[in-house]
Amino acid sequence: MSGKAAILGAGVVGLACGLALRRAGFDVTIVDRGAPGEACSLGNAGHLGTGSVVPIATPGLWKQVPALLRDPTSPLKVSPGDLVANLPWFLRFLANGTNARVERNAAALAPIVGRVHKTWAPILEEVAALDLVDREHGLMHVFRGAAAMEKSRWAYELRERYGVRLQRLTPDQAREREPCLSEDIAGGWHMPDVWTVKHPLRLSQRIAARFEALGGTIRRATATGVDARGIRTADGRVEADIIVLAAGAWSTPFAEAVGVRVPLAAERGYHVMLEGSNAPVRQTMLLADRRVSVSPMLHGIRISSLAEYAHPDAPPDHGMAARVLGGAETVIPGLGGKVASRWVGPRPSTPDSLPVIGRAPLAPNVLCAFGHGHLGLTMAALTAEAVLELAQGRPTSLDLTHVAPTRFHWWGRRAA
Ligand SMILES: Cc1cc2nc3c(=O)[nH]c(=O)nc-3n(C[C@H](O)[C@H](O)[C@H](O)COP(=O)(O)OP(=O)(O)OC[C@H]3O[C@@H](n4cnc5c(N)ncnc54)[C@H](O)[C@@H]3O)c2cc1C
Repeated sequence: MSGKAAILGAGVVGLACGLALRRAGFDVTIVDRGAPGEACSLGNAGHLGTGSVVPIATPGLWKQVPALLRDPTSPLKVSPGDLVANLPWFLRFLANGTNARVERNAAALAPIVGRVHKTWAPILEEVAALDLVDREHGLMHVFRGAAAMEKSRWAYELRERYGVRLQRLTPDQAREREPCLSEDIAGGWHMPDVWTVKHPLRLSQRIAARFEALGGTIRRATATGVDARGIRTADGRVEADIIVLAAGAWSTPFAEAVGVRVPLAAERGYHVMLEGSNAPVRQTMLLADRRVSVSPMLHGIRISSLAEYAHPDAPPDHGMAARVLGGAETVIPGLGGKVASRWVGPRPSTPDSLPVIGRAPLAPNVLCAFGHGHLGLTMAALTAEAVLELAQGRPTSLDLTHVAPTRFHWWGRRAA
């Protein structure tokens, strides 16, 4: 089956869906008010996180929240007003931090991240983007404190149980992999199978270019609504047989209009791009005690972090972010460099760390493809695979039960 398809959102998720549908013969229009890939998909840390089976809500997190909120160097930020506005989301998020829920959410994430290489590899080849991906170095988590490393051992054991290949590193082994690390680190973990994207915006742009070369249309317009007949925009309607909702952190009102009530928070992350750094960083790292990512990109070193719960379009607070991102210097002395750019973007986050993929109950031809949280780059290709299968009325390669748009409804399959 093919026909007309309209996609709301030209982030990496919407673009991957567009390419898959167009390649399969659909007449596809992607609607976005901005340029392709320039919202949240621009600024991520670049991990294609095949080791990311550990959900964000974890046991005992609730006990740490007050101290995290008081610490100016901690990545967690929320103003009293935004705390109240997001209270139902936070309560659901904390409820996902029990041992049983963590186990359930990890079990749901494992088959998802297990499809990352298989689904991304053909796209990278098709859009000629293999040069943008480091498939050699993997991802290293580095710990400064021995106590913090020991305390989080369970998360690595969890990964191992779900088949993630990893190696525990002594301080010397970590420094051998990355000589610019400080003398006083406690050690780390290396995940060799994680691929990293060295220019996430360029990857989106290459997907967009290939999509257009195949005859797809990208229309610059602000959407005002989505229904079973298409996408309404400020300057007219895009009619379609299949509609894909991929508006990232802005998806909530469009989803509600087609009967999907998903608790979605805009969990904003920040980055700085450093140019001319003195530290020859070779590989992508997560400085785990501080939750700061260090990603060598084609155009400099990207330092990223933070989970600021706020309106997706609220003005950025780069001064506040600098206090968190500056933590990278404590693990990589002499990082230095000139700040070439600063960025903020909203992760579309669900309380159970699982995306929202599937049919809208009030309009089964509207396909949800949002809510990817910390893993939108990772999951874009497998989301596109599922969207195409749904659009063609075929069985999906991935069991979509745990990512169902109705899972948060009282009549949904489970309380999330
Ligand atoms: C600091 C940081 C680090 C991250 N690191 C990683 C990582 O290492 N690996 C990983 O997998 N993920 C990572 N992520 C998460 C990842 O970037 C996101 O999950 C992903 O970009 C979401 O993609 P998307 O296409 O759903 O949303 P977006 O890229 O935000 O795209 C949504 C699009 O919808 C459009 N839109 C919204 N409303 C309208 C409207 N009314 N009319 C028209 N257009 C509209 C927007 O303009 C936008 O282009 C990170 C995120 C952050 C912030």
